[in-house]
Amino acid sequence: MNEQRKLRVAVYPGSFDPVTKGHMDIIQRASRQFDRLIVAVLNNLSKKPLFTVDERKELLTQVTGHLPNVEIDSFRDLLVNYMDYKQADVIVRGIRSVTDFEYELQLASTNHKLNSEVETIFMMTHPKYSYLSSSVVKEIASFHGDVSDLVPPEVERAMREKFKEKLGPN
Ligand code: ADP
Repeated sequence: MNEQRKLRVAVYPGSFDPVTKGHMDIIQRASRQFDRLIVAVLNNLSKKPLFTVDERKELLTQVTGHLPNVEIDSFRDLLVNYMDYKQADVIVRGIRSVTDFEYELQLASTNHKLNSEVETIFMMTHPKYSYLSSSVVKEIASFHGDVSDLVPPEVERAMREKFKEKLGPN
């Protein structure tokens, strides 16, 4: 039998400002569940990010280089339109807490309303990253604190540079 199986393509959308070890855990686990995983940086004009979209993409590219079925992209369209454009069927999101759950449920329900073909799949955070967010990492790094347990080394370096630029040597 030579039936062609449809490729399972998932999109993991987010701000990734910057990518943390919590995101990495989700990316690694999701990449094992799908044929292709597209990590898509949301180009959101209403947020004031630390890293530009290109810098965030570059960091994501560096830290996912060992995962052959993961690709990095960005989008500024409605997520369901982007899913259509990429011919992807599943949205992957991570959940850390009940607060995340409430927000994510609202988001998933909205996306379902806009396109009922699109499925959202949630992955629970690894317990050791349940407190971890990009904002926490930025806060610690802005005071020159140690973030080596929280982000990949490439991100740690990039943040050190960024805060040096922003704040000067002290
Ligand atoms: P957004 O602005 O879309 O929330 P984020 O980059 O903050 O973008 O998060 C992207 C996705 O990754 C969200 O689903 C978020 O819940 C999830 N996420 C963020 N940090 C973690 C973590 N430490 N463990 C698991 N999932 C996480």
